[in-house]
Amino acid sequence: MDSSLLQQIVIVGGGSAGWLTAGVLAADHAGAVQVTLIESPDVAPIGVGEGTWPSMRDTLRRIGVLESDFLRACDAAFKQGSRFDGWVDGSPADHYYHPFVLPQGFGETDLVAHWQSSHAGIPFADLVSFQPHLCARGRAPKQAATPQFAAVANYGYHLDAGKFGSFLKAHCIEKLGVRYVCDHVLGVHSHSDGSGDIAALRTASQGPLAGDLFIDCTGMKSMLLGQHYGVPLLSQQHVLFNDSALAVQVPYPQPDAPIASVTAATAQRAGWIWDIGLPTRRGIGHVYSSAHCSDDQADTALRAYIVASSGQADIPTPRKITFSPGYRERFWHRNCVAVGLSSGFIEPLEASALALVEMAAIAISDDLPANRATMAIVARRFNADFTYRWERVIEFLKLHYVLSRRSDKEAGSDFWRDHRQAASIPERLQELLQLWRHRAPARSDFRSTAEVFPAASYQYILYGMGFEGSARARGKDNGELADQYFHEAATLTARMLPALPDNRSLLAHIARHGLPSI
Ligand SMILES: Cc1cc2nc3c(=O)[nH]c(=O)nc-3n(C[C@H](O)[C@H](O)[C@H](O)COP(=O)(O)OP(=O)(O)OC[C@H]3O[C@@H](n4cnc5c(N)ncnc54)[C@H](O)[C@@H]3O)c2cc1C
Repeated sequence: MDSSLLQQIVIVGGGSAGWLTAGVLAADHAGAVQVTLIESPDVAPIGVGEGTWPSMRDTLRRIGVLESDFLRACDAAFKQGSRFDGWVDGSPADHYYHPFVLPQGFGETDLVAHWQSSHAGIPFADLVSFQPHLCARGRAPKQAATPQFAAVANYGYHLDAGKFGSFLKAHCIEKLGVRYVCDHVLGVHSHSDGSGDIAALRTASQGPLAGDLFIDCTGMKSMLLGQHYGVPLLSQQHVLFNDSALAVQVPYPQPDAPIASVTAATAQRAGWIWDIGLPTRRGIGHVYSSAHCSDDQADTALRAYIVASSGQADIPTPRKITFSPGYRERFWHRNCVAVGLSSGFIEPLEASALALVEMAAIAISDDLPANRATMAIVARRFNADFTYRWERVIEFLKLHYVLSRRSDKEAGSDFWRDHRQAASIPERLQELLQLWRHRAPARSDFRSTAEVFPAASYQYILYGMGFEGSARARGKDNGELADQYFHEAATLTARMLPALPDNRSLLAHIARHGLPSI
């Protein structure tokens, strides 16, 4: 097909990655390409991955989903950021927020320098943004009259991963014309021209399935890119040690218990516990390093957390998931591109995996090669962008550990101290930390079009964790202007707190009446 048009896209895998990619491609290229998704009846999707970024609102809108349908079908709730408990020193008062809203006036003047010189007694995020205050009070990020996907305060979602997959599947098949094949892929038929391209998939019961472009969404086994093509996983375990998780679903103690607006991430002696609130249950999991903590110790810590946070001692046996932290040496090889877990996975801190799926699906769709002749160019660009993105995700996650002052020595774990060993810290992050001893992270530190986390996110983590650099105000920075922005954040807080409903009330309202569409 060197110059003939690309017409058949075959996606292998029906987890969140497969269906999101199918949805984006089918919605964007209706009538021009046929999208087929094949999913094994014998291999279940991973069934975790319940926190998203605000980008998911754009992705769902792009594929033609109604927000109220999505919220109802996926047991979804609103997420306005993350709260980190115990990451700095593990003391009872130790907590800070990483909200989705940028600081008020971000980039207009040096807010950090003025915060440090004049308001250091107030937590940075609390001073520069209204959103931590909404989160602390369980407020929703919008009102019942706010149109679907629009926000008063920027938000993503907490959702049920299993229900999300089923919802996307129905939407893709019924509304977007994705062809669905339920069959197990056994292997590939290579092209007869000797190029090494995949010509068709060998299936267990329905014969060969031919295509022009194959998208590997087979999860951690990475059947096409990893197994067939042998593209190696570049391990990142020397930087981010976590490789195991115990996950469990816990009912609320009372049906009307508040629904949290943030993912709570609570530091443990050799990892951390996520806590995600959906309308009908919480999803809770302990991510840990098997080199620093046994499964039994991780299980005991998880149970202790659940008892302390909800009084419930009787919980189902947690499900154990293991993973090799890392990403593929390349993501697009020949006529095959990996999206989702098949392209890599790092611990779920900051929930970037589904965001990377969205970015990959959109990149493939926006730059969809017209024919085989242009595919190598597109692949090279895609590989460069996504290698850059994975490197940035790893640095940003590592930042959370590098800044910690925890030792947990008394608990017999070297996890936190090992994270601060210089040999485990990527060089670029070490350099940035040196620069940030004298000035705050700025937009100019993150110049690529492939950036993942903005400078504002670095500021929230650095100053939330008490980073000791002093941002020296430059002549052009204006303390009065900074004070105006701090005042603006406080005014917005005072206005929004009484005007926004709590999460549970708004979700109950949406379940009954939906959201306005414009
Ligand atoms: C502990 C943990 C917590 C996480 N938390 C978050 C989070 O909060 N936020 C976030 O964004 N992400 C999170 N993630 C990541 C998230 O779960 C995944 O990115 C997301 O679910 C996408 O998975 P996937 O579709 O790539 O793979 P899977 O869900 O594993 O799907 C694989 C699919 O491939 C199919 N398949 C496999 N083999 C074959 C075959 N031979 N033939 C045909 N089909 C086949 C299967 O049937 C299945 O449909 C988390 C991951 C883990 C491990």
